[in-house]
Amino acid sequence: GCGICVKKCPFEAINIINLPKDLEKNTTHRYGPNSFKLHRLPMPRPGQVLGLVGTNGIGKSTALKILAGKMKPNLGRYDSPPDWEEILVHFRGSDLQNFFTKILEDDIKATIKPQYVDHIPKAVRGLVGDILKQKDERSTKEGWDCFTWATETGELTHVLDRDVGVLSGGELQRFAIAAVAVQVSDVYMFDEPSSYLDVKQRLTAAHMIRQVLEHTEMGDRRYVLVVEHDLAVLDYLSDYICVLYGSAGAYGVVTMPFSVRVGINAFLAGFIPTENLRFRDDSLSFKISERAESGGELGKNDIMRDYSYPSMTKTQTKGTAKFILHVEEGRFTDSEIIVLLGENGTGKTTFVRMLAGLLKSDEQVALENQGKMDEAAEAGPPDLNVSYKPQKISPKFEGTVRQLLHKRIRESYIHPQFVSDVMKPLTMDNIMDNGVQNLSGGELQRLAICLALGTPADVYLIDEPSAYLDSEQRINCAKVIKRFIMHSKKTAFVVEHDFIMATYLADRVVVYHGNPGVEATASAPQSLLTGMNTFLKSLQVTFRRDPVNFRPRINKRGSQKDAEQKKNGNYFFYD
Ligand code: ADP
Ligand code: ADP
Ligand code: MG
Ligand code: MG
Repeated sequence: GCGICVKKCPFEAINIINLPKDLEKNTTHRYGPNSFKLHRLPMPRPGQVLGLVGTNGIGKSTALKILAGKMKPNLGRYDSPPDWEEILVHFRGSDLQNFFTKILEDDIKATIKPQYVDHIPKAVRGLVGDILKQKDERSTKEGWDCFTWATETGELTHVLDRDVGVLSGGELQRFAIAAVAVQVSDVYMFDEPSSYLDVKQRLTAAHMIRQVLEHTEMGDRRYVLVVEHDLAVLDYLSDYICVLYGSAGAYGVVTMPFSVRVGINAFLAGFIPTENLRFRDDSLSFKISERAESGGELGKNDIMRDYSYPSMTKTQTKGTAKFILHVEEGRFTDSEIIVLLGENGTGKTTFVRMLAGLLKSDEQVALENQGKMDEAAEAGPPDLNVSYKPQKISPKFEGTVRQLLHKRIRESYIHPQFVSDVMKPLTMDNIMDNGVQNLSGGELQRLAICLALGTPADVYLIDEPSAYLDSEQRINCAKVIKRFIMHSKKTAFVVEHDFIMATYLADRVVVYHGNPGVEATASAPQSLLTGMNTFLKSLQVTFRRDPVNFRPRINKRGSQKDAEQKKNGNYFFYD
């Protein structure tokens, strides 16, 4: 080996050229022999939000734990850990020396919103309201009603009397963010705050996180660190960015701080300009599809199949709760991707299940009850040959990934085109012999996408593919879906909350509006521009795009661009 890599030479996996020569001296932590090494550390700045971007397994959570004082860095010497005095000498001359001195003297209190919110009920018991009341020190210390602000902004008012153990993923996430935001702390850390949240809630979470810096002069002295895979949210939320690169599970290197735009563009480009270092072979760019750009119109050579569905209603009842979804009649064709945009609880999954033939519309059921079978068939979606990736994945299969692929998509998973279009970019080869029951969330998601795309169908229904994926996997996954639909000339409906993925994927969009959990309407598929405009207007945010890689960027609320675009009604991409 070259002395840098531990498990597997990174020069084979990703072509890193010009890896910094002083890395070995700059080892911050090593978990053990042949285990992960973190080089350097990000330096938080008072009064600002530091965003961290990087793939899974690259050391982001490790860096947070060290900066929170919850883990003592061993400078690579796992067998003879240095004492604090030596650690301070190591960081001498950098702002980190100061930071660690304060941590050591217990001058700094750090609070972390953990990455895995599903584990919270195991550690915390009690009612949501009681716990938040007890954690809320800001109300007294800062002299305002922080509790009411946090519960209202975090959409928690209706769950204050509930036990933490019964909360949904999204509710747990909002509870966890609120529980950190109401505390008096010097360092606030949010590890992946957007998981389980819809677009609107992601924006609200971003505002909640930034708010800890805004109140009183204490805000100017506070440090905020955020790890986030939704790059549009990270971009919106951060004041500056450190990129982590390296080889997942083997080593990670933290870069110097960059401006938000330069940092995220560097991550997407796979190239760190200040170090003249390439860490990924291909750069990622987001020019939206020609078809989307032309307003969703078909090119003259495109048309082959044309589908339509009637206007439909679907009532779902659970106990006394009732949800009504109205679907406006719509048409779609092959070779297009339709992205479903809407808040949680507005019926995106319900609609997808109707298209899959798993749920019948109210009209269909009524007609069937009258024995009018032919008319009933007309009152639902056409009889489509679909392949469906559900939102919730809970596999019962007892064997390995390879065995499951062999059982379910025998033809596809060894077909050369499928291997190069789908299996390779989703890096399935490194989990082929793992037991399906032992897969991580992200691994399961990749497997589920593989299974869905490997199943022959006319219409692919893909519900929330980016959940549990890191930012790089999201981009790979979006590319995979896009290329697959283009090559196979099929249709896809995709539910997606990650802004960048959604705009990259969409030829057209369905927009949901209404009252989550009560009653909502799904629009007919419409052009990306019109649909996004409607959707963003309902959220009161505007987008511009980056001139280099065309990624969507959210305008800062109240900025000149924001005000101008709102005035002209151009919520989406107006250059
Ligand atoms: P990220 O947050 O970027 O996904 P982490 O900092 O959680 O990455 O982990 C980086 C690497 O360190 C991973 O390969 C992980 O398995 C390893 N790691 C994390 N904690 C430990 C530990 N306590 N002992 C050994 N290895 C660990
Ligand atoms: P989305 O995917 O947009 O988050 P869903 O389609 O999953 O929304 O759910 C819409 C609403 O319908 C929610 O309020 C949900 O609680 C309710 N709902 C979903 N499935 C059922 C069901 N099987 N029985 C009763 N209510 C349901
Ligand atoms: Mg992590
Ligand atoms: Mg859903």
